[in-house]
Amino acid sequence: ADLTVQDVLRMAKENNVKFIRLQFTDMFGILKNVAITEKQLEKALNNELMFDGSSIEGYVRIEESDMYLRPDPNTFVIYPWTQGEGAEARLICDIYNPDGTPFEGDPRYILKRATQKALDMGYTLNVGPECEFFLFHTDSEGVPTIKTHDKAGYFDMAPVDLGENARRDMVINLEKMGFEVEASHHELAPGQHEIGFKYSEAISAADNIMTFRYVVRVIAQRHGLHASFMPKPVFGIAGSGMHTNMSLSTVDGTNAFYDENGKDGLSQAAYYFMGGIFKHIKGMAAITNPTVNSYKRLVPGYEAPVYIAWSGKNRSPLIRVPAKRGASTRVELRNPDPSCNPYFTMAAALQAGLEGIEKKINPPEPTNVNIYEMTPEERTEAGIDNLPGNLFEAILELEKDDFIKKAMGDHVHPLYLEAKKLEWHNFASRVHQWEVDEYLTKF
Ligand code: GLU
Ligand code: MG
Ligand code: MG
Repeated sequence: ADLTVQDVLRMAKENNVKFIRLQFTDMFGILKNVAITEKQLEKALNNELMFDGSSIEGYVRIEESDMYLRPDPNTFVIYPWTQGEGAEARLICDIYNPDGTPFEGDPRYILKRATQKALDMGYTLNVGPECEFFLFHTDSEGVPTIKTHDKAGYFDMAPVDLGENARRDMVINLEKMGFEVEASHHELAPGQHEIGFKYSEAISAADNIMTFRYVVRVIAQRHGLHASFMPKPVFGIAGSGMHTNMSLSTVDGTNAFYDENGKDGLSQAAYYFMGGIFKHIKGMAAITNPTVNSYKRLVPGYEAPVYIAWSGKNRSPLIRVPAKRGASTRVELRNPDPSCNPYFTMAAALQAGLEGIEKKINPPEPTNVNIYEMTPEERTEAGIDNLPGNLFEAILELEKDDFIKKAMGDHVHPLYLEAKKLEWHNFASRVHQWEVDEYLTKF
């Protein structure tokens, strides 16, 4: 339902809302906000609120720092855990320049540009994300650790599973905020969870991911736990993915990836969409897997993809096509992780997929064997390439991929590459514990 400015003002009043967080996302996918009181809400909704963009990563230089926030009335939500006296609500904002043009560095705008391109071609992108995360204990000073509640037996905890209780509370709060939670379960690793919610059109799916991460962390904290979306917090156990299920629908709402007469029930558009993604998957890696730590997850043995292949049958590949057909036909891109900027990830994947459709790019043949059991020679023979092995390789791939750079826009890609190079340098130039353990006494 479309909410008007009047609806928002009325709902805020009826629910005794005292504070409103005006939210937006920086280049690194971090949620930012400017908090206002209900007295300023009308002004904000009339797009009259300014903020200083120079303090936000990937935004603007000091000399031109005035930016305008344009709250999207449809994103008005009251945080259920604040209900009652002095309730708190949020509005997700688009960022505008003082001259009234959309700001090129706003991740939401970058995704909107991609969804507009899709619309021009007659398509809407639907995205169903699966966000995995860990729940960790905090120590006696409240500092997060990497100890999980599943080891409760060792740490003399109450008999109830703190993690399960926290997760149930997350689901309840998300549902109150309008999420349709589809599945919530314990994941493979100790302390690891997943909450899946219903697919939606790309912009709202990306908004939902930002909201989801926030809610999960807030509720975890209220249960005395620390929720982390770090891709691989603990060596030797599974990492956390953000599998991204995607399908295109046509203007009349039909699933454009389904064709009952197509090969394996998939349409030509579905094949070309995958073809485009395969073409740019390496260039996209610095966006879908943006941190040093992301690449610690993309290793064999933990259901995370390593090789560039797809399949309808097994779970190891980069793209899986779940068996469901008809309205549920979709492709599941399995490499993104929850440290990514969801607007950038969806913008890159959508632009790549649309290029596949436009240029009729075929994907490779599906691989229905377990790629992890193939020898390197067998993989070479089958033409199966690897994802970048670390952030630095991913940066070099993005530098080579003019198409993905263009999808990010001229404002973002130089800033993004510069920041990611610095991040890599900071990591690579430090001496890590593993090196000390390995070399100190050996040499
Ligand atoms: N945790 C796995 C990953 O890193 C995925 C497990 C699953 O298939 O849900 O992608
Ligand atoms: Mg999972
Ligand atoms: Mg999955």
